[in-house]
Amino acid sequence: MANISSNTNSQNFKVVLLGEGCVGKTSLLLRYVEDKFNTKHISTNQASFLTKKLNIEGRRVNLSIWDTAGQEKFHALGPIYYRSSNGAILVYDITDVDSFQRIKSWVKELRKMLGTDVCLVIVGNKTDLEKDRNVSIEEAEEYASKVGASHFQTSAKQNEGIEDMFISLTQKMLDRVTEQEQQNNTLNRQNSQRRNVLVVEDDEAPPLPTKHCCGTS
Ligand code: GDP
Ligand code: MG
Repeated sequence: MANISSNTNSQNFKVVLLGEGCVGKTSLLLRYVEDKFNTKHISTNQASFLTKKLNIEGRRVNLSIWDTAGQEKFHALGPIYYRSSNGAILVYDITDVDSFQRIKSWVKELRKMLGTDVCLVIVGNKTDLEKDRNVSIEEAEEYASKVGASHFQTSAKQNEGIEDMFISLTQKMLDRVTEQEQQNNTLNRQNSQRRNVLVVEDDEAPPLPTKHCCGTS
């Protein structure tokens, strides 16, 4: 019994990794979940996910973090990959301006398909290559705040900024769920009040006119 209730108490979130090939999506995931780093490009055969359990201020969360199978290189990642996701991590490489531009088209597509239900975080990866930086922090932060996303900088190689980024995203997704619950509660309350009003109207329907009301003074 205790197990069943603890399972129902935890929140499941789907998070997708998006961004151009070679920006470090798979490296970020492996570093976060398994604390590994590989200098070779890691190829995956199919889009797949790894899971991570978190506990934030007593709220249990299961993250399913989805990684691509490299379809992004052929611009062949479609809605099937990101549908019903609660969060998206949009990764660019700080040394590669094109990879930052690519993020912008992902933001447009996600907002169009998922609206504001999805929490976005934009991540500049490979900060260990600071000397080759081509995307300024200011530009990236300004863009992120314009589109309602948060911005983080990471290095999968040196394990910097990754945990903070995942915790912040998870916190945002929890806040979003709380907001949605409050909105639903308000709607339910309004609906039940409306139902009450109807009952009252029915009960207090004016009596049918009787004959004597026309003839009296
Ligand atoms: P993906 O195609 O976006 O999944 O990128 P990968 O995770 O396969 O990484 C592509 C290449 O970038 C690999 O050679 C990684 O070793 C390298 N890489 C990933 N993250 C970092 C990082 O933080 N710093 C540096 N210097 N290289 C990285
Ligand atoms: Mg990959």
